[in-house]
Amino acid sequence: MRPAILNPLFADVIALTGVGPKIAAMIGRVAGPRIVDLTLTPPINIIDRSKRPKIDAAVFGELATFLVTVDSHEPPPKGRRLPYKVICSDETGFMTLVFFHGRADYLKRALPEGEQRLVSGKLEEFSGGRQMVHPDYIADPNKPEDLPLYEPVYPLTAGLSSSVMRKAVVHAMERAPDLPEWQDEAWLKARKWSDWKSSLAAVHGPTSSDDLSLLTPARMRLAYDELLANQLALMLIRKARVKSKGRAIVGDGRLVAKAKAALPFMLTNAQTHALGEIFDDMRSPERMVRLLQGDVGSGKTVVAFMAMLTAIEAGAQAAFMAPTEILARQHIESLGPLAQATGIRLEILTGRDKGGIRREKLERLESGDIDMLIGTHAIFQEGVNFRDLAIVVIDEQHRFGVHQRVSLTQKGARPDLLVMTATPIPRTLTLTAYGDMDVSQITEKPPGRKPIDTRTIPLERLDEIIDGVRRAVAKGDQVYWVCPLVEESEVLELTAAEERFENLKGVLGDRVGLIHGRMSGADKDAIMERFYDGDLSVLIATTVIEVGVDAPNATIIIIEHAERFGLAQLHQLRGRVGRSDKASSCILLYKSPLGETAKARLNILRQTEDGFLIAEEDLRLRGAGDLLGAAQSGFPRFQLADLSVHGELLAAARDDAKMVTEGDPQLKSSRGEALRVLLYLFSRDDAVKLLSAG
Ligand code: ADP
Ligand code: MG
Repeated sequence: MRPAILNPLFADVIALTGVGPKIAAMIGRVAGPRIVDLTLTPPINIIDRSKRPKIDAAVFGELATFLVTVDSHEPPPKGRRLPYKVICSDETGFMTLVFFHGRADYLKRALPEGEQRLVSGKLEEFSGGRQMVHPDYIADPNKPEDLPLYEPVYPLTAGLSSSVMRKAVVHAMERAPDLPEWQDEAWLKARKWSDWKSSLAAVHGPTSSDDLSLLTPARMRLAYDELLANQLALMLIRKARVKSKGRAIVGDGRLVAKAKAALPFMLTNAQTHALGEIFDDMRSPERMVRLLQGDVGSGKTVVAFMAMLTAIEAGAQAAFMAPTEILARQHIESLGPLAQATGIRLEILTGRDKGGIRREKLERLESGDIDMLIGTHAIFQEGVNFRDLAIVVIDEQHRFGVHQRVSLTQKGARPDLLVMTATPIPRTLTLTAYGDMDVSQITEKPPGRKPIDTRTIPLERLDEIIDGVRRAVAKGDQVYWVCPLVEESEVLELTAAEERFENLKGVLGDRVGLIHGRMSGADKDAIMERFYDGDLSVLIATTVIEVGVDAPNATIIIIEHAERFGLAQLHQLRGRVGRSDKASSCILLYKSPLGETAKARLNILRQTEDGFLIAEEDLRLRGAGDLLGAAQSGFPRFQLADLSVHGELLAAARDDAKMVTEGDPQLKSSRGEALRVLLYLFSRDDAVKLLSAG
């Protein structure tokens, strides 16, 4: 149960004065549906009306506030469509306030003749005089609080005005309770940070653009709160998982030895090292929860296969989950020979298995006649029961967030879990997304790979590129052609791909194939197969090929509108080539002109193939928010923390969370109680639930 003290914050924004259903929906888009979301949305700008010049010293067009005397009203003559004017002055000169469609009764009340008023807005020159059209504010000098000298500006959307949004935040802040302090007192003192509520008030009350900095004490404190909630939640999830007893898996090495002998290569040192860490985990009676991180083509699959063999040596079963049907089939094909060499029984299960075939596979699985099952998420559906599942490998899981990991954990028996990802993630982000796991990294590639010649070329030179493709195809090369990413429109994306397909077919004939996300699984497989077999020379694809597809003979990849992709995604795509000892190239077609940042980003790809370096640079150039893209939903989005700036705080939050969970694992101390409030504040209820469950 959420602590009652937080209830006012967790009401719908519609509860706020001045917020109806329409405005609530718009606020939902820019901040979130609940009052707490408003309080945790920091301003992105500030309007400064603190300049108080005399009329004759005012700079035209500059926002300022004036103390004036109201001299006279000049309503428009009856029947004429002229503005209503009010003449004002101070000791240095005159100005005219101009109101189109001005209502006399209202204006008479707001600007009584002979009295002083504060007016704020931009003064302009008009036929030799000075005028202000529709002042932003008119206030009684005895009530200066009616005229905010500094106005925070929040993210907006069409139809949501700045003042409506600002008032909503003000009202939301009025509901913010005093919360118990969840931070360590000594740490707050050392950092000179104040309490949560004052910090929040400071962030919402900037008085200069400096106050908008991510490095003010108030913002740092709030960022730290958010990071601590993130790290604490992950640590609790991890504890719950490890505590849920696993089993000691000890193999006799017989299958692993056979597989090694059958491999046409030696494992790299990095592979051997990662495998050692995995074996240690499996041997221990605690449950393994490990992330295997390695660049595209670094050879993760073989490592996972060896781990699964170990479980089979111990008499148990292994499951391997791929993100797509294509990949599941590809794995079964590439692992087939190794399975044969070791004599294990390998089977595939995907959503396409229906009826009798499916039933028969499920029966063999339950009776233990299948040792290793490869498949899509179908392998974890209802009705799929293993005789004795000891290890689960999840491949390419960057779309598979911590929430899904939690649910997988809660299901039935508790097999060891090995998660593989090729998404190069900077260390800081690894902590926020995978902080609940141990991490192994494969940092070197198999020997003999040639560097990929990467070039950036403007789209205007498309004809040249198509010419080059024709020559390459004539020589027997195979080419991937990736069509532009169209954010939020699969239909437009498809249209672009189909157009390119028609266009290239005109040049290259029927050696061109098209694959996209809307095709049926069987159709996709058929096209992929023709590409492996060399039947197709050019494969036009939307981003469905991003994840893991392996056609070692392809040596050229062309990516249209490369500037629309994230760097990590481009790096992944590029990894589709350079998978053999042949020289490969990658052509990044961009729409000119490119902005400075876009240019710098694409240049990084030209300069290095080190995925981790690319990811770090991307984080530096773009900030964490953009880095991962909305599609990669496995990553937490922070409202107040920005990892390109607050990375150092994350490390501290990590240590802090570790200390807390070691000293007070059930969060029972008074700080522990306050930390529960923090977890709820940042909606990490999933972690708290694990706590109360035991
Ligand atoms: P990842 O899954 O990490 O992207 P893969 O496991 O698909 O990489 O391996 C890429 C290719 O490299 C595969 O064809 C695989 O057989 C090969 N490979 C893996 N390990 C080695 C190694 N140690 N030496 C040579 N080739 C290797
Ligand atoms: Mg792979």
